[in-house]
Amino acid sequence: MSTRTRICLVTGANRGIGLEFTRQLLARGDRVVATARQPGKATALNTLAGEYPGRLHVLPLDITQPRTHAELARELPLAVGDDVRIDLLINNAGVLHSGERFGALGLDTLEHSFRTNAAGPLLLTQTLAPQLANGARVVNMSSRIGAIALTRRFGTPSYAISKAALNMATALLGQALSPHDIVVVAVSPGWVRTEMGGADAEVATADAVAGLLAQIERLAMTDSGSFFDWQGAPIPW
Ligand code: NDP
Repeated sequence: MSTRTRICLVTGANRGIGLEFTRQLLARGDRVVATARQPGKATALNTLAGEYPGRLHVLPLDITQPRTHAELARELPLAVGDDVRIDLLINNAGVLHSGERFGALGLDTLEHSFRTNAAGPLLLTQTLAPQLANGARVVNMSSRIGAIALTRRFGTPSYAISKAALNMATALLGQALSPHDIVVVAVSPGWVRTEMGGADAEVATADAVAGLLAQIERLAMTDSGSFFDWQGAPIPW
């Protein structure tokens, strides 16, 4: 059995759910590449890097900018060694524009949400595909708000539409990467207490991430292209 340390890559890792994934992955013994738009200002990540010397690498990435995807791919061998094999890619970075309403929708928030929440994760996964290990897991942080079957009211349209697009990207990536035994899933962390979720949210960040990691550990090839929440309950598309 191989004793190679697992390598995980988490986007949007400077705060919220991404930071908590980084913490828990390091605590379980993995090596983590954590990306942030501005690594120099990612205080919590830089403190963690001091606590886990050689196991946490903080690299720049703006998910809306494909140029930075390519730069990240070029930097990876310098960070983790020439034979880059990412075992777990967590496409976590995301944005929610609140306050949109029907009658006053504009292209800016729709376009920005799509670039951040859907096109970004799809294109980053494509760029990193040659560096994904056989049997890797790709986890796209989606939301129940992106489930067309659960639509109840007109709320956060740019977010909802972009997460629905991410769900389709998940299914397509699952197909594209199946020859390499790579499992691609969309997950919902629940309503989580972060800057995005707000103080009244139901689920503590640590619980959401621990739940998702437990679900990710159980994934089999037949789960590729599926959508479920932090407790493992399937979510309709
Ligand atoms: P936060 O707003 O707390 O954190 C979002 C993270 O994404 C930050 O690190 C932020 O970086 C990063 N980010 C935003 N835009 C970009 C970009 N263009 N390039 C790179 N990084 C970017 O959100 P959460 O931690 O709550 O959410 C994480 C994920 O979980 C998101 O995809 C979200 O949609 C999803 N989710 C969250 C829920 C919740 O209740 N919290 C519910 C359902 C899904 P920066 O600090 O630089 O802005």
